[in-house]
This record gives sequence, structure tokens and C-alpha cells, in this order.
Amino acid sequence: MKDIFNFAPGPALLPEKVMIKAQKEFLNWRELGLSVMEVSHRSKDFLELAESTEVNFRELLGVPDNYKILFLQGGATLQFAAVPLNLAKQNSSADYLITGSWGKKSMKEAELFLDVNVVATSEHTGYTTVPDFKDWHLSNDSAYFHYTPNETIAGVEIDDLPDNINVPVVADMSSTILSKPIDISRYGLIYAGAQKNIGPSGLTIVIVREDLILNPSKFTPSVINYKVMSENNSMWNTPPTFAWYMAGLVLEWLKEEGGLNSIGLLNLKKSKKVYDLIDSSQFYISKVDKRYRSRTNIPFILFDPSLDSIFLKESAELGLVNLKGHRSVGGMRASIYNAMPEIGVDKLIDFMKFFENKYG
Ligand SMILES: *Cc1c(COP(=O)(O)O)cnc(C)c1O
Repeated sequence: MKDIFNFAPGPALLPEKVMIKAQKEFLNWRELGLSVMEVSHRSKDFLELAESTEVNFRELLGVPDNYKILFLQGGATLQFAAVPLNLAKQNSSADYLITGSWGKKSMKEAELFLDVNVVATSEHTGYTTVPDFKDWHLSNDSAYFHYTPNETIAGVEIDDLPDNINVPVVADMSSTILSKPIDISRYGLIYAGAQKNIGPSGLTIVIVREDLILNPSKFTPSVINYKVMSENNSMWNTPPTFAWYMAGLVLEWLKEEGGLNSIGLLNLKKSKKVYDLIDSSQFYISKVDKRYRSRTNIPFILFDPSLDSIFLKESAELGLVNLKGHRSVGGMRASIYNAMPEIGVDKLIDFMKFFENKYG
């Protein structure tokens, strides 16, 4: 079989070692003669798995003891509603920074539940940059500040926040979690759908500071009620057991790879290779402000869009698949999450050079 390198934005590729281990254990997990999919989430074996997954999560990300980690369902999108429902105080409002389509979607959903103050938006630029801190309008009485540190579609990543945010910071880290070390204590709440860097879809991670786990609005469904879910170790109802198991394998793999420091450096190296090529060519164009280029999602366009379909066809023939950009941006997008080996990036770059020579 030809090697396939999958640049999909999500669901994304998983580490090969993880897939092989899962395959090996598929029919007979822990010598039980059963698949992990077939055992009770309340069984001793599954509870051990759940616990070790959480321990590894805490260790890898350096999650302090006063934070809970919840293993939920419904994707990041359900958190767009869960966050305002759980964190809004009576009659409160919340601050939203909009630097891409996901931030806008989360803001629209929040508007169902509270008043939203848009701190700043880069929509008029086509989401290619982050508004200057001095143009941010933070409000004084908001329940929280929400932003999207990595916008998966337009490829905009924010590393720093201004120091004058005095309310809990909430971050949608769906496409950036586990890609580099972060200081969890800077955040009140972090959430992420699993299907980019954690495992298969179906699992959603919420990391929330304990003092923010309050009695939410009385209309909050129990499965997205952080208090109910945390008091029940994310097992108020049946959790997504297979996705949870796969996430556990991914975390073990990350530890073997040396943790977030090494994977962070590797991610930097991989993305730099692609950006260096783009910057050295007249043929490929990145529209994103250099200061905010994403390390995980790299959109680029060809100077002649009529070559797009040929680019996609020829790259796919070489096993470089899912490079088509999001329909709202056009062109190409290379998503290079943790599981993308450096050799996959090298193959992509070789192909891009070859293609430029042929058609440029
Ligand atoms: C993929 C993605 C989402 C949507 O996640 P679902 O799990 O499909 O709900 C939200 N936010 C960001 C930043 C994403 O990358």
C-alpha cells in the first residue's frame, strides 16, 4: 500500500502507532475477550482507563489540582452553548473576540443565552489577522472573555493576550490543544473537540477551574451541566467509551514522543518548513498576517486559481490527500497536527516545488 499523508482539518489523522495498538486490541482488550466498546463504563477496567487518561492529560498539559477535566460529548459546538449556560451569572453579558469563523459561531450561539459584547473582530479583513490590543473593547462586567486561540479555517493563531483581562478567560482550543505547552492557570476554562489533536470525534474535553463550576441556569441540560458532570466523573450518562479509549492511547503516544515540549518544537519546525517555501515563492501565497500564522492549519492559495484542481489531483496521486481549502477561503489548506510526521511535510514541500516548476 502506498503511504498516505492526510492533511485533513478534522477529523484528522491519528498516529500510526496508536492505530496499530487499537487494531491489535480491537477484539480482545485487556485479555477480557471483549472489545473496549463492549464493556461497561462502570467496570473496573474502564474506570482504570478513565483514570489513567485523566492522569496523563494532567501530566502532559500541567493541569493544576484546582481544575477539573471533563470528558463530554456534543463537540466543541455544544460547548458554544454550555459555556454561557454554565458561566453566565444573573443578567450577565460576556466578551467575545472574533478572529475567525469558529469564534463567530460561538458568539452567535452565546447570543441565545446572554448579551454578547464583541471585543473586536477581524471579519472585515477576511479573518487574516488579529485586531491590535489597543482596539479591543473589553467590558467591565462580563461573566467571561471568550476567544479562539487557533482559528482552524483561516489559519490564525494567537499566542498572547493583553494583561488587562480581569474576567475568566475561556478558550476554544479544538485545533491547538496538545500542540505545544500552555500555561493552564491563565485560563478559566478550555474546551476542545477531540477530532483534531486528541483522538476520534465523539469526545469533547473541558478543563475548568473549580470556582467556575456553579449552579448554572435552571434550563441547562444535565449532560452539559459542569457541576453534574464533574460530580459524576463525566459519567452521569454513558460516555463515548471508544473515543475515550483512543484518546488515552494518543496521550500515551505523546508521552513516548517526549511530551508537549518536544512535540511543540517539532510542530514549529514542520510549519516553518511550509511557510518558508510559501515565502520564497511567487507561486504560493499566504494571506495571513505573519505575526499570527497558525502552526497547525496552513491555508495558502495558488497565484493562478485555475490550477487548483490540477494541484489537488496531482498531490492526491502522490498520497498527499485532503489539501483542499475550506470553501469560505478557497485554495489549499495543509493541516499538520501532532500526528503528521515530518516526512509527510517534506513530501508535501517536495511536491509543491515540483508543481511550481512544472506550472509556474
Ligand atoms: C473543528 C472546530 C470546531 C467544531 O468542533 P465540533 O467538535 O465539530 O463541534 C470548533 N472550534 C474550532 C476551533 C474547531 O477547529
